[in-house]
Amino acid sequence: MIGHQAQQEQMMEAVRSNRVAHGYCFEGPEAVGKKKMAFNFAMDLLCQQEESRCGLCHSCQMFAAGNHPDFHMYEPEGKSIKREQAERAIHELQIRSYEGGYKIFLFDDADKLTASAQNALLKSLEEPPPQTVIILVTANPQGLLPTIRSRVQAIRFYPVEEQELVDALQKRGVEADTATKLARLSEGRPGHAISLLESKEFQALQEAAEQALSYLLSTQSLQIVPFLALFEKRKGEADAILNDFLNFFRDVLVMQTTRDDKRILNPARRIQVKETARRVSESAIYGIIEQIIQTKDQLRRNLNLTVGLQQMFRIIQEEISGNDRRHTL
Ligand SMILES: [Zn+2]
Repeated sequence: MIGHQAQQEQMMEAVRSNRVAHGYCFEGPEAVGKKKMAFNFAMDLLCQQEESRCGLCHSCQMFAAGNHPDFHMYEPEGKSIKREQAERAIHELQIRSYEGGYKIFLFDDADKLTASAQNALLKSLEEPPPQTVIILVTANPQGLLPTIRSRVQAIRFYPVEEQELVDALQKRGVEADTATKLARLSEGRPGHAISLLESKEFQALQEAAEQALSYLLSTQSLQIVPFLALFEKRKGEADAILNDFLNFFRDVLVMQTTRDDKRILNPARRIQVKETARRVSESAIYGIIEQIIQTKDQLRRNLNLTVGLQQMFRIIQEEISGNDRRHTL
């Protein structure tokens, strides 16, 4: 679990003090960790040891294997969670727990419950059988009927602090540089950061950016077309890649003005930074930085990304090679 310390403690305290509500609504942004928390909470409740999930007991093992008979999850089938699904849940609710403890009903994307399904569930929330817990998970609590919302305890989730997310990603073996980029891109939503990390396209974009930078620095003619196509597909990450370029040239500038390579932000690029600082003039680096900032701005204002990037690459190459010419003349 990344972040949400206060919410974790609140749920643990409910289990510890045996004051568990019959209904909860875990609400907050997409991929922020609501469902993960719901799973942990369910595991805590079902664990045969005291207080919190031990991971070792029969119950925890069944839960981890995804076949605990007292844990039921419902998700949209197609566009919605239909009345039949809610009726299946209500039927399950009447049956005694198999393991003699809690029975837990998790509705993921609960705002997708049809009004009819919500009405069917309402009675179970009004007069719940003992030791049943209904957890509604949603990024859009307004999609729930007010009668439902008033009968569940709302637990709100917020984006995780950037530094907390960076640290958590690093603990999972992600390099500092990538962790920072992912934390920024995912806007504090750990689930989103992890799916980006696992996405082939994101990796391809990273590699392409790395390659583009090397090409630019070596003043070879840049095969920009495939790079642009990739950028077009992942517009959401374009700004982060441009930040990456920006950080590189800022490092170059810092190296030129301080001559201190310990100030380089990205140690993985130390050699490239020092090489560029030696080869390209300070004024050319200023020109490049200005150009990248302009392109970022164009991106923000939704102007044509391809044209903006082409211009940026052309100008960077001119600055770098123009400078080279001056050196060789
Ligand atoms: Zn256990």
